[in-house]
Amino acid sequence: MFKSKEQFKEAFIDKMQTLFGQSLDESSTTDKYVALSTLLREVISKRWYQSNKQYRATKEKQVYYFSMEFLLGRLLGSNLFNLGLTELCSEGLSELGIELDQLEAVEHDAGLGNGGLGRLAACFLDSMASLQLPGHGTGIRYRHGMFEQKIVDGYQIELPDNWLRDGYVWEMRKADRAVTVKFGGHVRLEEQGGRLIAVHENYEPVLAVPYDVPVVGANCNTVNTLRLWSAETNHFDFSSFSKGDFLKAVEHKYSLEATSQILYPDDNYPEGKTLRLKQQYFFVSAGLQSIVRRYKRTHGAAPAALARIHEKVAIHINDTHPALAVPELMRILMDEEGLGWDEAWYTTRKTISYTNHTILPEALEKWPIDLVQALLPRMYMIIHEINERFCADLWKKYPNQWERIRDMAIIGDCYVRMANLAVVGSHSVNGVAAVHSEILKKEVMANFHQFYPHRFNNKTNGVTHRRWLAKANPKLATLITETIGSGWLAHPNELASLHRYAHDPAFQAGIKAVKQANKEKLAHYIQNKMNIAVDVNSIFDVQVKRIHAYKRQTLNALHILDLYNRLKADPNLDIEPRTFIFGGKSATGYYLAKRIIKFINTLAHVINNDRAIGGKIKVAFLENYSVSLAELIMPAADVSEQISTASREASGTGNMKFMMNGAVTIGTLDGANIEIRDEVGDDNIVIFGLTADEVLSYYKHGGYNALDIYHGNPRVRTVVDQLMNGFLPVSPDEFHSIHHSLMRTNDEYFVLKDFPDYAAAQETVASLYRDQSRWQAMAINNIAFSGRFASDRTVSEYAIGIWGTKPVVIRES
Ligand SMILES: *Cc1c(COP(=O)(O)O)cnc(C)c1O
Repeated sequence: MFKSKEQFKEAFIDKMQTLFGQSLDESSTTDKYVALSTLLREVISKRWYQSNKQYRATKEKQVYYFSMEFLLGRLLGSNLFNLGLTELCSEGLSELGIELDQLEAVEHDAGLGNGGLGRLAACFLDSMASLQLPGHGTGIRYRHGMFEQKIVDGYQIELPDNWLRDGYVWEMRKADRAVTVKFGGHVRLEEQGGRLIAVHENYEPVLAVPYDVPVVGANCNTVNTLRLWSAETNHFDFSSFSKGDFLKAVEHKYSLEATSQILYPDDNYPEGKTLRLKQQYFFVSAGLQSIVRRYKRTHGAAPAALARIHEKVAIHINDTHPALAVPELMRILMDEEGLGWDEAWYTTRKTISYTNHTILPEALEKWPIDLVQALLPRMYMIIHEINERFCADLWKKYPNQWERIRDMAIIGDCYVRMANLAVVGSHSVNGVAAVHSEILKKEVMANFHQFYPHRFNNKTNGVTHRRWLAKANPKLATLITETIGSGWLAHPNELASLHRYAHDPAFQAGIKAVKQANKEKLAHYIQNKMNIAVDVNSIFDVQVKRIHAYKRQTLNALHILDLYNRLKADPNLDIEPRTFIFGGKSATGYYLAKRIIKFINTLAHVINNDRAIGGKIKVAFLENYSVSLAELIMPAADVSEQISTASREASGTGNMKFMMNGAVTIGTLDGANIEIRDEVGDDNIVIFGLTADEVLSYYKHGGYNALDIYHGNPRVRTVVDQLMNGFLPVSPDEFHSIHHSLMRTNDEYFVLKDFPDYAAAQETVASLYRDQSRWQAMAINNIAFSGRFASDRTVSEYAIGIWGTKPVVIRES
């Protein structure tokens, strides 16, 4: 580590010479970024080595968090922060005439995820390392991560994400740890010495090569590992090649390596493509093989040792995407390590735990039997056997209850149901917010809850306050530390003492000034990027998240249209000026979501260019919402839009990032919004709309008619008509699909039903904002009570309640 600024500067200049053979003034910004990151990586590597050494020596239990997605964002800034080097390096660089911010901006976001689920995994890695827990990530090194979104003429255009173009300094290829994953072929059961042995023949081998990314803990020496698997092959088809068919040989190599080429850009809507199933098995099999290999080195390779793997290894599956971990661990323990079924089943269940992320029926993963059988024959055999035994148990407890058993079976209607597999094959099933966990127990998984009452629990999500407060909003962090000391950095619950300053005029002024500076920074970005001038004294009202019918960007947009109508009718209408900011990507094949993007951009075009309303409202859709853009937006928000149909958003984490940065939530009683309200109290949040129970009751028993609202409410009728009547400068059926979803399929997400209450809630927001002292007090209370939503709290609950893991204090290396 660097003892002083001087020593750092020397090392930096030296690194520039040894890496690139050039001096500082000859170097590009990219070179400087690479030199700085490489320097840090050397510091990190020593701690990494020491961490692994102690993990082996202490033999403490290890956690492996399996996730198809890790939405890491940039790592330079967070690594500097966690190493405690931000100040030293930024000052040192500045003395060399270099802005640290500019170097950070060079890094490509590691966008290996879609949204909330992938970002949660990234926050958990940060918290596990910072709590000194031996916890690692297992995932896929997608050659192309989340696509880059451009907005052209109001429409989303997708560009491939080429994040590895300039190399990735944070990864380390470990070719010697590669393993083989087998696809297709046939499995024969053969008797050998009184045991049935599975013989897998004619399979297609894919080589899985790990790329390790260090995960640096804050204020400790812990460095954990995120192991990302890449599909490669050393199996070049020489028979084709030697026959002169060079292209065929290359094609074959390419098709094997395709497995880790792309991230499927679907959020809460899994695509049932063969390649996706291949990805799932690929990283699950590779990950488990490497874990078992490591376990055997540390704890012994005899079957008796493997029968106790759950004592030293916890495997957590993030949603059902890695649910093949259940049959794959069974396969390894039985076919490769010689355990019998009962022993293997006992230890598999004790090892694996599962987080459910959604109750949206269309998001529940299921795979056609034919596909599983053809691509993963051994997996299918094991799943089939698990199902047979499970159904036999059910029959014993519930004789003749066919309906119930049909509902709970792992295989049914020609599909393998991954959630059922995950529940049966694990010892813990958790939801991600209190209301979501209750709905799981009472509705979606009620039969499972009755059968396994102790398996279900709740772990409310969190976000790392290091990235989302300290690093993203340094001015706020400084103000907080000046006011209550720096204890909150290690113990975010200490933020609560800010509550005492909620009505302190000086502190309010400080909070306001910080927000204003952050708004100016975002306004600059909007001006430069989109050529829209926004009023930094207006309310920054922000909805950024994936575009989805259930998240109801449509509700927000229709309300903006209504506000615009009222302003047109009365240009002197006394409203609080507002800037409506949107951001978010649509899945590539999600037609309705793409029209919602066009709708918002059309509103922006009309409203921003209408001089008659005197600039009182503006609309900006920021393209390419990503972790880095979120870090710019969250600190600048006054109002956080969390308006999903109650019961549909499992938790949300965007809501927590906004709260930490002092935005006031306007939201439904959904997901973690409910717990945010519980923390801040009704006076510091604006709640509206149907409750989850009301929504679930409508879904179950009917009773809602969207046309009643349309006919009964003139403001609603006007904005719905404006979608189709030529009011907007688009072709007549441009927004037909939005209109249709509201009027013809009875408004599945209750947009019209909640509209009047939402509009009233927005008036409440405006009148609260007018009382600036009141508003600043609300902002302060939101920051003060955000400690509960730090992922350190969440992860320590997982460690104690599910994984049974303890911290390991890593010595200085
Ligand atoms: C936090 C985050 C999300 C999740 O946002 P929600 O509002 O909870 O859906 C999605 N994308 C990015 C880039 C994020 O940082």
